[in-house]
Amino acid sequence: MRIARIALPNGNTSFARLDREDGLAELLDGAPWGEQGPTSGERARIPWTEADLRCPVIPSKILCIGRNYAAHAKEMGGEAPSEPLLFLKPPSALLDPGGAIVLPAESARVEHEAELGVVIAQRARNVRRENALAYVYGYTCVGDITARDLQKKDGQWARAKGFDTFCPVGPWIETGLDPRALAVRCRVNGETRQDGLTANMIFDVPALIEYTSRMMTLEAGDLIVTGTPEGVGPLLGGDRVEIEVSGIGVLRLSVAK
Ligand code: MG
Repeated sequence: MRIARIALPNGNTSFARLDREDGLAELLDGAPWGEQGPTSGERARIPWTEADLRCPVIPSKILCIGRNYAAHAKEMGGEAPSEPLLFLKPPSALLDPGGAIVLPAESARVEHEAELGVVIAQRARNVRRENALAYVYGYTCVGDITARDLQKKDGQWARAKGFDTFCPVGPWIETGLDPRALAVRCRVNGETRQDGLTANMIFDVPALIEYTSRMMTLEAGDLIVTGTPEGVGPLLGGDRVEIEVSGIGVLRLSVAK
């Protein structure tokens, strides 16, 4: 099932199902994860285009994993970690599909990191990895945009990873995927920069849910961003960026001049 959040003509947004055979967006009463039960009766259907899509999640927190692919850890000049390297991005960093990444004046080197995003289906605490995939609603494409110079300078990553527009997500959520069988790609101005496989994650999605839910309660709609494969590189004003995860789609972005 394909779930998005779309802008309505009245200025509001609505979660919607997009994979109907008639091509129309079927509006939902709320987020399809969490306590929201199935709605009864006929739902409204409206035509839509890519320009109508908004960030498909409204997470209470965004948990990100660093250096979760050995080849990327190596290109960063570090060893592969012995346990997941967790950091947070603020929800204020979220960027809609089709949005423009803003390069902050404080940084001379902003880089792309294409990643698989995991949307949590229900409140999760102390989940064991054997049961972890039952807590996943679906998957989406995420950009972990990073001010690389500030990441190195600051030591901790809140500033480098937390600027407004540094967390593009979308264009929608797909359910029912095998999170170990996906390709994660980034293209800049049509040139492939990153092309990795989630099978090469050091800590897989169940392991990440087990690890993170031990220390903080995961809420329905929270987002886990699972790390980037090798090939990260700089973004410049005017670049066109595409973040693609096989089985989901292409998140199209630009970089503001
Ligand atoms: Mg990353």
